[in-house]
Amino acid sequence: MASILTPGLVLATAVASMLAAAGCSPGIENGDRAGPSSASVPAARPSEGWTPPVFTDRQRERDEMVRIIRSYGLTDEAVLRVMAAVPRHEFVPPAYQASAYEDHPLPIGHGQTISQPYIVAEMTSRLKLKAGDKVLEVGTGSGYQAAVLAHLTTHVYTIEIIKPLAEAAAARLKRLGYTVVDARCGDGFVGWSEEAPFDAVMVTFAVDAIPPPLLEQLKGGGRMIVPVADASGTEWLTLVQKDAAGQVRTQRLIPVRFVPLLRKDPTQR
Ligand code: SAH
Repeated sequence: MASILTPGLVLATAVASMLAAAGCSPGIENGDRAGPSSASVPAARPSEGWTPPVFTDRQRERDEMVRIIRSYGLTDEAVLRVMAAVPRHEFVPPAYQASAYEDHPLPIGHGQTISQPYIVAEMTSRLKLKAGDKVLEVGTGSGYQAAVLAHLTTHVYTIEIIKPLAEAAAARLKRLGYTVVDARCGDGFVGWSEEAPFDAVMVTFAVDAIPPPLLEQLKGGGRMIVPVADASGTEWLTLVQKDAAGQVRTQRLIPVRFVPLLRKDPTQR
């Protein structure tokens, strides 16, 4: 089954600049291998007793989106419930509002995309999250995937390298009530060492090889889902499992297309 993300679509909207700056690291070009060092948003993490926000507008479209995801064979009811709950239209630029619930990626500016709903569901399901798990998403983009994760566990950390996207996503998540998501700007290749280890890690851009720091920051018994390109350039959604002894097993799932890993913020050059 084709599961394709379209990279490289450029968008001329100013979503990112509309939103207030919040907790974005100015230090991502200094080669700091210890990971991003900015203050996070929010400062206090009110995860105790937090319940996900409820949205009712465009519910019928979300239900139809879920019907399509289910028709592809995804049967994880917990994840399908979340996909029916998160207001995807709030995460796409105004120009793409109408098609927010169609099963394909959409441009979010700076050449980046919000992933196809089916892929979001598939990747989320593969992490097999339990309440209380600590999950790291690398590649915040719009913040949509982070919101999806927050419905499954209140310990969500997400990193985005493009400063305007990071700022916009942090502000959007906060505005929508996803206050348990800790979003920051930085190079996610190095992970988030201060918060490691993680029960689960999700990478939402393509890599040629699994970033070693992310593997190191994965707990024994943890899972990572990451698009990895093979020698021919085909990208494979790859499930990485680390056992209690630290042994790593990788499994290719389906061919995909993602935007590539960046090591520097192109908006800061
Ligand atoms: N998960 C996103 C989609 C992300 S697209 C969503 O739900 O909308 C991949 C994102 O990864 C892009 O926003 C891109 O800027 C970001 N990215 C690329 N390289 C990165 C890196 N080294 N560290 C952090 N983010 C990175």
